[in-house]
Amino acid sequence: MKPQRPARTSLAALAACIAVPLVAGLIDMPAAQADPTVNKVVVLAFDGALYSRIQEAKAPNLLGLAAQGVLAQTSIAPHATTSIPIWATGLTGVWDTKHHITGYGGDAFATYPTVFTQLEKAKPQLRTRSIVTWSALADAAASGTPGVDVNTITSGPNEADSGTADLSATAITDDAPDFLFVDFDTVDSAGHRGSAKPGYLDAITKADIGVGKIVAAIDARAKAHPNEKWNILVTTGNGNKPEGGHGGQSADETANFVIARGPSFAAGTTNTTYSIVDITPTVLTLLGVKPAADIDGKSMVTATPGPSTGSFGIPWPGTGSAG
Ligand SMILES: [Zn+2]
Repeated sequence: MKPQRPARTSLAALAACIAVPLVAGLIDMPAAQADPTVNKVVVLAFDGALYSRIQEAKAPNLLGLAAQGVLAQTSIAPHATTSIPIWATGLTGVWDTKHHITGYGGDAFATYPTVFTQLEKAKPQLRTRSIVTWSALADAAASGTPGVDVNTITSGPNEADSGTADLSATAITDDAPDFLFVDFDTVDSAGHRGSAKPGYLDAITKADIGVGKIVAAIDARAKAHPNEKWNILVTTGNGNKPEGGHGGQSADETANFVIARGPSFAAGTTNTTYSIVDITPTVLTLLGVKPAADIDGKSMVTATPGPSTGSFGIPWPGTGSAG
């Protein structure tokens, strides 16, 4: 059947046609205000950081996130602690021993696509964004079809990742992407010079200020938009040796940590297994995309948190009875 040509209308009928949607619009207003609940996820790659040194630095914002969420201090041994393979793990949920990725060019992510590609393929309407200090991660975000929606390498002054932090905070406040990947790199640079050197603690302290800006933007956005359920995941690719550098299998190089804070995570708990490999399946699960069966990581959303130390006891405002 072809669509019927509309019947001729009188001026009064036309006015009624215009008036009805207007009235309907007014009637619908309360319903329109109650936007559907949506999850939002920010992953912060706080690269090169040792959690023990974050504690020593008494970095208030990272420690605050840990206290309000789930904290796991683990090890990625025997996996690679060089940046390219370990961040391929972070972005795919697959270990280096399986993905064999040694560069982000060409079809590096053909077999195991990045979290960006998986999200965009399953739900093209999701708005994904990447803001990084380390430019190689922008190549990874753009790799695959489709890649990330908006891809930014922070240019200009980026002392202590402040440029990356400021841009990320603005993106959260103004655009509220469904998935935002943020990479800080200055702590890793300091770690190359030595994780036992005073400069390392100083780099953590300074970068933590940027973490605070991002968390403040998330919390303000969540308060103004109660339908948006904001989750933040923090992890590192590698630690650094006391004398500097990484790539080997020492405890300082393989040390890993994950912080997961948000309505989907029990506040003030610890876990003994979560690591960087669990980031991608967690992001996918939070955004309603089923992780592929052949990846190594596990969603931290559905997993039962590990034994709680119960020592934090600081509930995150949005978690209600959780924790
Ligand atoms: Zn490094």
